[in-house]
Amino acid sequence: ADGGPGDYLAGLNPEQREAVLAIDGPVLVLAGAGTGKTRVLTTRLAHILALGRARPWELLAVTFTNKAAREMRERITHIIGPSAEGLRWLGTFHSISAQILRRHAELVGLKSTFTILDTDDQERLLKQILEAENIDTKRWTPRTLASLVDQWKNKGWTPQKLPASEDFAQGRAQKLYALYQDRLKTLNACDFGDLLLHVITILSQHEDVLGEYRRRFRYILVDEYQDTNTAQYLWLRLLSSADGNVCVVGDDDQSIYGWRGAEVDNILRFERDFPGAKVVRLERNYRSTKHILGAASGLISANKGRLGKTLWTEADGGDKVQVRGVWDGEAESRLIADEIERWRKDQPGRRWKDCAVLVRASFQMRAFEERFVLLQIPYTVVGGPRFFERAEIRDAHAYLRLIQSEDDDLAFERIVNTPKRGIGDTSVSKLLTIARTMGVSAVAATRQIINSDELQARTRTALSLFLRDLDRWRTLAGQVKHWELTETVLEESGYTDMQRADRASGPARLDNLKELVQAMQAFDSLGAYLEHVSLVMDLDQGAGDDAVQVMTLHAAKGLEFPLVFLPGWEEGVFPSQRSIDEKGEKGLEEERRLAYVGVTRAREQARISFAANRRVYGRWTTQLPSRFVDELPIEHVEAASDTGYYGGAPGLREAKSRWDDAPSFGAGYSSPGWRRAQVNTAGSPAAPRWQRPGVIEGEGRLVATATSSSSAYGIGDRVFHQKFGYGKVRAIEGNKLVVAFDKAGEKKVIDTFVEKG
Ligand code: ATP
Ligand code: MG
Repeated sequence: ADGGPGDYLAGLNPEQREAVLAIDGPVLVLAGAGTGKTRVLTTRLAHILALGRARPWELLAVTFTNKAAREMRERITHIIGPSAEGLRWLGTFHSISAQILRRHAELVGLKSTFTILDTDDQERLLKQILEAENIDTKRWTPRTLASLVDQWKNKGWTPQKLPASEDFAQGRAQKLYALYQDRLKTLNACDFGDLLLHVITILSQHEDVLGEYRRRFRYILVDEYQDTNTAQYLWLRLLSSADGNVCVVGDDDQSIYGWRGAEVDNILRFERDFPGAKVVRLERNYRSTKHILGAASGLISANKGRLGKTLWTEADGGDKVQVRGVWDGEAESRLIADEIERWRKDQPGRRWKDCAVLVRASFQMRAFEERFVLLQIPYTVVGGPRFFERAEIRDAHAYLRLIQSEDDDLAFERIVNTPKRGIGDTSVSKLLTIARTMGVSAVAATRQIINSDELQARTRTALSLFLRDLDRWRTLAGQVKHWELTETVLEESGYTDMQRADRASGPARLDNLKELVQAMQAFDSLGAYLEHVSLVMDLDQGAGDDAVQVMTLHAAKGLEFPLVFLPGWEEGVFPSQRSIDEKGEKGLEEERRLAYVGVTRAREQARISFAANRRVYGRWTTQLPSRFVDELPIEHVEAASDTGYYGGAPGLREAKSRWDDAPSFGAGYSSPGWRRAQVNTAGSPAAPRWQRPGVIEGEGRLVATATSSSSAYGIGDRVFHQKFGYGKVRAIEGNKLVVAFDKAGEKKVIDTFVEKG
């Protein structure tokens, strides 16, 4: 622990102490994982306060996540007591920027009440702008522009500073960017990237404001410095004077946000920007055992161009890092769930939250989540939604639910205009009101009014196309497997195209959808699958504080756990296929750093696994163990492929023996250029099947029956309609009336929507 008030320095090693005590002038702490960088930063803050060198609100402390900020605040409170509450400027770059911007909004043409747009709003706005400029939004999508704007802002480029080389919609990048910024101003809004960019603009254009903040922030501290991007760098540079009391801590080997514009070079630049900066290196790792550290160090040594550092630990003993081959993804989740249960049972005092499952990509979470639900292991997904709560998964489910039962108005509402079909919010809510009044479902109501004038002609066309699709899919549901149906629906509805157009989050969402299709195959029918999902979603985990921590490797930065599981170490998963396909080593090196981050999260045990097979779109593909597995030094690793989770199907023995016989972890098959998708023709292995009796596929087909031949109206009756006013009934077709309205002319309306006039 941090020790009580006063003796907070006692437990530090000489180098850590040096970094804490050197509070005047610039300091760079460059050190590997688990060496106490964050601890140094926290203690340094406490020390400055304890010496009375600054008051809490005169300290600027930047962390990578809000969670990290909360933890730091707690630790400081523990050392110096309640005065830590005054730490107003402890937070992330974004949260601190928002605070600054609120106070000076008018300097960039905003009011202090400005709103911060989410990505949906942002895209809607961009779409309006693109349309106003007569740009084909199918070819040049708002999403692509949104992610470009984000990249530009990460680089600190305002529209005026945008390099001519940046292109969008044939040379219109700068104009569109400027129009967007203007619109934001008019709306008194800004997006996430603006928070930093506006602050940079304010500080660089208003010397008085800059002076105020430079005087205010007597000490500046930054954690995870290796992942700052250019805008963040400029921001920091402005706020700290050349002889400033700036302390940054980081580890070049843990730079994992290059894809978001982070520049490791900022570390090297620090020494240039602050000549005479004190550079402290920490070499003792306090977190992990020798084997964990040895495995991680060996792994990262395959990267070139590192700043290089030594790490040692006194934590003797401990198990070797385990590497296990399993049959497939389901076996992997069974193995890990079983081990978590056993670990907790065998060792009293262990808690669920001591275990973490760290995945490369969110699609991997699905198997674990389902397994945990089944075994009633409390779990929480850190830094993101649970798999079945993801927007794209909910959308896919909505399509399927609507195909299964057209009464499902919630499903209808969710996807009737996703992807965009030109059926606006107003039309949808009107439709739902109509349905409610008629006492039927939205789809049934649509069927009835589709030939009437209740809705605009454009909307009606769009709706009838949608109904036609829906009917076709329902017929298809009786003819093909339910997962094939899902693929078809996602394609034909334009949903996958919509995701493909999204360069930023599209690929991950498509992977999640593939995983969904894969998961469905374990069920006998669509009904069985959907019921399973509703059970999984419904189970309130009531996880509370003590729950297994499931998250991506990116979200795990800076954290530590006694027991860490690292599943899916396969070529194409980790490293990702994209990084393999990319030219050069840059992407792969970032993946390797991510692997290093993963292994170094473990305090006592790290357990890596890879599956020999994964099912992708109904086809079994043979997976090759990740090259990172080969790179783990053999003396720190224990290979255990005989876990009993290997199954006994043909094809398996080969994969297994390749692994077993592989000298120093199979260097033999890490030749460059091999691809993951070698189709394995072996039939389906004994995949687990959850059967839920009682649900019959294709059940619930509902036919619109609300038509009645005996309308309460007769020809010649005078009626009143909310929208069209007074008129006279000319003809009656079931429950529809053809009315000659006095002002609106002849219209077809639903009888329940008129009253006697
Ligand atoms: P990362 O690179 O993963 O962010 P870090 O360098 O920030 O790691 P910390 O999280 O600060 O490392 O420390 C790792 C662990 O070692 C923590 O549990 C911390 O409390 C402990 N630790 C750090 N320094 C000491 C020390 N001098 N004595 C005992 N424990 C320490
Ligand atoms: Mg840290």
